[in-house]
Amino acid sequence: MRLVILGAGPAGYAAAFAACALGADVVVVEDRGLGGNCTLWDAIPSKTLLHTASVMAAVDRAEQLGIQFEHGRPRVDLLRTVAHARYVATHQSRGIRDRLEATTVRVVNGHGRIVEAGKIAVSSEHGEVELGYDRLIVATGAAPWEPPFASVDRVRVFTPRDVLTMRELPEHLLVVGAGPTGCEYAEFFLSCGVRVTLLSAREQVLPGEDRDVAEIVEESFLGRGAELQFRARVESVDADDTGVRVTTADGRSFAGSCALICMGMRPDTADLGLDALAAETDERGAIRVDDNLCTTAAGVYAVGDVAGGMMLASTAAMQGRHAALHALGATDGVLDLHFVPWTIFTQPEVASTGLTAGAAALVGRRVDVTKHSLHANPRSVISGSTQGMIKLVTEPESGVLLGGSIVGYRASETITALALAVKAGLDVDVLADAGTVTPAMSESLQRAAEKAVTTRLARAASGLRSA
Ligand SMILES: Cc1cc2nc3c(=O)[nH]c(=O)nc-3n(C[C@H](O)[C@H](O)[C@H](O)COP(=O)(O)OP(=O)(O)OC[C@H]3O[C@@H](n4cnc5c(N)ncnc54)[C@H](O)[C@@H]3O)c2cc1C
Repeated sequence: MRLVILGAGPAGYAAAFAACALGADVVVVEDRGLGGNCTLWDAIPSKTLLHTASVMAAVDRAEQLGIQFEHGRPRVDLLRTVAHARYVATHQSRGIRDRLEATTVRVVNGHGRIVEAGKIAVSSEHGEVELGYDRLIVATGAAPWEPPFASVDRVRVFTPRDVLTMRELPEHLLVVGAGPTGCEYAEFFLSCGVRVTLLSAREQVLPGEDRDVAEIVEESFLGRGAELQFRARVESVDADDTGVRVTTADGRSFAGSCALICMGMRPDTADLGLDALAAETDERGAIRVDDNLCTTAAGVYAVGDVAGGMMLASTAAMQGRHAALHALGATDGVLDLHFVPWTIFTQPEVASTGLTAGAAALVGRRVDVTKHSLHANPRSVISGSTQGMIKLVTEPESGVLLGGSIVGYRASETITALALAVKAGLDVDVLADAGTVTPAMSESLQRAAEKAVTTRLARAASGLRSA
């Protein structure tokens, strides 16, 4: 079986490893760099920048821990911070190259375009080559959306990817869009001492999260001097030699020295030749797929960001692997992603999995919600980072864990235990009886579960009394 994969991000390389292990003849076509945008421009470099932010946050708490500074507060040198992010990205990309080189996967550098069913043309500086395939996996990712009302000049108006080529910290940054990416970059620049104004089109930051979850992040931003603007539906972003001006639909106007446009990603199907196949796209330009990642074109799969969906590196990799197994007839189950956790790496971190309380309310589903503060968690107190809580969402009758959120120190790690419990469909009792480490953030997960169990027991007891 000849399998061609377009794009070597997490979706593409996960597909390649899986298919190769099953004996397929695999070719990966990549036009920018192994590891994809995820490794070179988006997830990995942004998390490296946010590591600097977390170190700066720790510095802010250092005096409380008995650490004294003799020469004032440390300062972020943007060029060196960005250089480190680029080093990490390149290091990770090389790691993927080494792993691919240890297999029989063939990597072809260049831009792949579908010529006709069964045939791809790859163009590069060395000319054009044609590749035949029996199955094709499209894993071409997504690019930051540049709205028509903002001319992204990369001098004063930037997208997140441009942060890696910035030469100096802006004086006053307007972050347009308060979703995960907007909040993470607000976090980074705030920790660098930049004046930040964050504009959210909605009533809160992180509109995908529960209101009370987002409030903790808002308080953290406000406490560090960020300005937050809500219901700010941006209509224009204009730049001149002196700075930028952002105006909103309700007539408000904000001035700053630079603007960062964080208004989401658009699936990358540019010059892909999709028209040559009967592969449909949706209104956002994502390639339509079924539960097995099959497109409407026979033998063609689409995985990762180009297929829309959750747009996470982890789901991209799971989709890539699933599509490869399906293409080779090695699986007959559909891919289930309902439990996959996601994190926003602000201070504190926000991590969620499965069904959140807000999502349950949106669809009118009755659930039990248990909240537990992280205020007294010993690990929180030791780290000096006590903001946060755990929210568990359970099925009222059975106590089965449906999902939840964790806002707090190292939430990105603690969430995995909850995600696993949601995936396994465990009763909250199991989590309440799970042994955890002391002192650790996971202790509070157990405390939250105990609380949920007690509430159910108390409700059952009062039901018995009233019967
Ligand atoms: C700022 C930011 C931060 C993020 N942080 C996180 C995070 O912390 N955790 C997380 O899970 N997710 C995060 N994400 C999302 C994550 O980066 C994406 O979900 C992930 O990159 C998707 O992987 P992919 O394989 O679908 O595509 P990509 O990583 O985008 O890779 C696609 C590849 O295809 C190549 N390509 C495109 N067209 C062609 C063509 N015609 N021929 C050949 N090659 C082509 C591209 O060059 C690219 O290398 C973040 C995203 C952004 C924007």
